[in-house]
Amino acid sequence: MDLIHPREALDIVLAAAKAMRPVALSLDQALGHCLARDVHADRDLPPADRSAMDGYAIVSADISDALPVTLRLTGESAAGAACQQIVRLGTCVRILTGGVIPEGADTVIELERTREVSPERIELLSPVKPGANIRCQAEDARRGSIILRQGTLLGGSQIGLCAAVGRTEVHVHDKPAVTIISTGSELRPVDEKLASHQIRDSNGPAISAVLTTAGFNVRLQASVPDAPGDLDSVIGEALPTADVIILSGGVSVGRYDFVPAAIANLRARVRFHGVLMKPGKPVLYATLGRKHLLGLPGNPVSALHALHLFGLPLLRRLAGYADPWCRPTLSMQLVEGVELRGRRVEYRLAQVESRADGQCVRLLESTGSGDQVRAAMADGVVEFDPSKGPWPAGTTVSFIPWRPLW
Ligand code: AMP
Ligand code: MG
Repeated sequence: MDLIHPREALDIVLAAAKAMRPVALSLDQALGHCLARDVHADRDLPPADRSAMDGYAIVSADISDALPVTLRLTGESAAGAACQQIVRLGTCVRILTGGVIPEGADTVIELERTREVSPERIELLSPVKPGANIRCQAEDARRGSIILRQGTLLGGSQIGLCAAVGRTEVHVHDKPAVTIISTGSELRPVDEKLASHQIRDSNGPAISAVLTTAGFNVRLQASVPDAPGDLDSVIGEALPTADVIILSGGVSVGRYDFVPAAIANLRARVRFHGVLMKPGKPVLYATLGRKHLLGLPGNPVSALHALHLFGLPLLRRLAGYADPWCRPTLSMQLVEGVELRGRRVEYRLAQVESRADGQCVRLLESTGSGDQVRAAMADGVVEFDPSKGPWPAGTTVSFIPWRPLW
């Protein structure tokens, strides 16, 4: 097994995967997809000069003299009404937030700075700057300009902006279809009675849940026993409908590890097999045409770790995420220092703590790569590259989140 550095392995994944084909989706279906084309403004934003406040539209020359000044009220401009009014010196128009600025007016004085002397007479009590409280036509975007770039993930604010520029449909990248296959003769479904040599397939549900949380569509297969040929036919059946197959277990060099042989039998191109990291060393990544196969180690912590480190970036790249968003790390400070001596890049389970000066991470004591109990307490893992130590308390480290942090 030729071990490569995890950063190099991630680069290989991100270089091998290309964004899926563009599809046109209605705006309500497009949530969670990445734009395949830029989105342009169909009109100026805002489309006209509008008031940012409730108050009175005035001519600023009227407030250059000593205050208070009394103006004659000649009409109203409310949001949603076309504005026919004209404001001249000595007059004003009542205006509501979002109302179009009447011709002749150049300033809005807020209601709080005025007093209604009579239904037609408004007293201005304190000064405002000329031009105040006006949201000018096109100040956010000019008609025809790019307001969302290709590669942008569509969340709430982006969907809102698409709606604001009249898009009922957007061009986004299709999402990859993922099939998950657990391997191991010891594995049984969750609802079965077990003998002591058997364990429940927990990687399948875990991988499925992580990917579903990240917005991907998954199909979870029944686990496959370690027997030559069995895996080949299950992978063969999954391939026509899957863009990505994620396997767990059986990926190392043991007598009953059949994943490498199954991938070799497919004549898939192995991009790497073995990463200089702990846990998760035997991880395997291969491509077959435009299909991707990721073999995760079976130990539950290793599987989850390799999934976050390589699986999610792979799927995000395929889904069209722009580059920095494919890579999973955040910078955090260590609460307590740590000493490590290994040669491999080590990843430790950690919890996020909120402190007065920001969020930092505390490492969890764990019994190793089978420790699902600690894994379920963790918010993610911290990366320790031996070339970068030592790591006293307060060191800034790379943190790979395993769940949303708010
Ligand atoms: P392997 O990578 O196949 O050598 O498996 C390593 C360890 O992970 C063994 O103790 C397996 O029993 C365990 N394991 C493998 N697959 C799963 C799974 N799907 N769910 C839970 N544990 C697993
Ligand atoms: Mg196994």
